[in-house]
Amino acid sequence: MSEEAVKVTNFIRNIIDKDLASGKRSSVVTRFPPEPNGYLHIGHAKSICLNFGIGRDYQGQTNLRFDDTNPLKEDIDFVNSIKEDVSWLGFEWAGEIRYSSDNFEALYNYAVELIENGKAFVCSLNAEQMREYRGTLTKPGQNSPDRDRSVADNLQLFKEMREGKHEEGTYSLRAKIDMLSPNIKMRDPIIYRIRFVEHHQTGNAWCIYPMYDFTHCISDALEGITHSLCTLEFEDHRPLYDWVLDNISLECHPQQIEFSRLNLEYTVMSKRKLATLVADKLVDDWNDPRMPTISGLRRRGYTPASIVEFCKRIGITKQENTIEMGALESCIREDLDSSAPRAMAVLEPIKLIIENYPQDQVEQLTAPNHPKDETMGTRQVPFTREIFIDRADFREEANKKYKRLVIDKEVRLRNGYVVKALRCDKDDNGEITTIYCSYDPETLGKKPSDGRSVKGVIHWVSASEGVKAEIRVYDRLFTVPNPAASEDFATVINDQSLVVYANAMVEPSLVTAKAEVAYQFEREGYFCADNKDSSPEHLVFNRTVGLRDSWAKQQ
Ligand code: ATP
Ligand code: MG
Repeated sequence: MSEEAVKVTNFIRNIIDKDLASGKRSSVVTRFPPEPNGYLHIGHAKSICLNFGIGRDYQGQTNLRFDDTNPLKEDIDFVNSIKEDVSWLGFEWAGEIRYSSDNFEALYNYAVELIENGKAFVCSLNAEQMREYRGTLTKPGQNSPDRDRSVADNLQLFKEMREGKHEEGTYSLRAKIDMLSPNIKMRDPIIYRIRFVEHHQTGNAWCIYPMYDFTHCISDALEGITHSLCTLEFEDHRPLYDWVLDNISLECHPQQIEFSRLNLEYTVMSKRKLATLVADKLVDDWNDPRMPTISGLRRRGYTPASIVEFCKRIGITKQENTIEMGALESCIREDLDSSAPRAMAVLEPIKLIIENYPQDQVEQLTAPNHPKDETMGTRQVPFTREIFIDRADFREEANKKYKRLVIDKEVRLRNGYVVKALRCDKDDNGEITTIYCSYDPETLGKKPSDGRSVKGVIHWVSASEGVKAEIRVYDRLFTVPNPAASEDFATVINDQSLVVYANAMVEPSLVTAKAEVAYQFEREGYFCADNKDSSPEHLVFNRTVGLRDSWAKQQ
């Protein structure tokens, strides 16, 4: 995939171009600001590609900043997974990792400055009263009875809050803006609250924590961010972002620009909902290969290039929309078609005995690793009298459309000989257990000499030389396009979203398959060894994606 070929444009890049041309800005600094309260998902990848892509293309810089103002929900595990995911996607942040919590002292001082200038006050309304006073979209708010508390008293109380002299919920610090504002966010929003909780970065140093809206803009400004890119739901936070920066003594004033979130059909995309799936054990973990998390996609076999390409194709706009899963799948399929070596694996093995082939002979057949790319070389595939083929590739009788193995008909074994089915055995339930065949020794790498035409090709694995493997085939996680609209995820989970083939057989070359490295299993799709459960003693492969778009026909 050539990434550099076309110059990317979008409305945000147009704004930046103008800012640079007019001299409003002389350089570009962006940031990616995740809250460490979950694993990153493909929606975050959109924001990562946008921010880091701009940093790179404008020879600017992009910071990675953890927006860590809510210690209750945050965790160091999440911090580590986020760092790993950003690096894995191929992006490098400028300098050290940053934390909003690095700025806690500075933020405290800016809050003091607001108090000193009569722009913030300590309020003693409790949560319920606060809600009543706030009003609604149609009802104006009312001033807090504490709004006119003196500067000296505010300073004293705020200091005491910091010193831990007041219980949680007794006081908060609020910006003094406008309780009549049509924008509820501007109705004297809380900027600090008391929370006696330990923080993953600052330990027990603080028992008051700044709110997101106060922290984010100041952290941006302290880092010299020029363009602060966020998703559309922050549009009505923008006046507050600007108000805070306009009312403190900080020179830098980044420009907040909103773009639409990525939504994908048949999955959910918010960390809170993903956390529910994990907590309710509807999936294995955050990195379950069915999850739209970066780590889930990675485990499933998606490459960084395919995700970056996907983000490029969906583009950046202000329009809310939902992308079809097929769009993501075609990116990985296109990437792997050229790069993944071919191999053979039989998901549902059924034994096939070639009666005219010598007992105990093991013949090493040479197979190309890629049909269109000789530079990928060849490998040896052992052929024996007893092999496995897939249950779906044999029928006792079939019409002409069925181009696989049928009694009295011929089929080619991929990379091998032409065989003809003679008869089969069945068990008491009528299930076919063994197929008996003959083979034509003159057909290795060539057509039958008498001009017989053999149309079908099937894959196979030697029964004695092949290796047992567990193969996991994934499908969409939900049965409905917009599961977020459901009350209860359990009712819309696709119970076929994971099908395990516990007795699959793979060719022996796959014993050394490395985790996350893709293969095309001929006629089955793209697979990779599982990065958690696979070992040479117990091979486990995940299906990344099928060979063709199966979504269209499923719907
Ligand atoms: P979620 O709703 O999934 O919890 P969030 O917005 O709370 O997401 P943050 O950790 O705050 O998650 O997000 C970090 C950055 O990623 C933010 O700038 C946010 O706007 C962006 N982002 C989050 N979800 C998406 C998405 N679906 N599409 C594009 N950008 C997103
Ligand atoms: Mg959030």
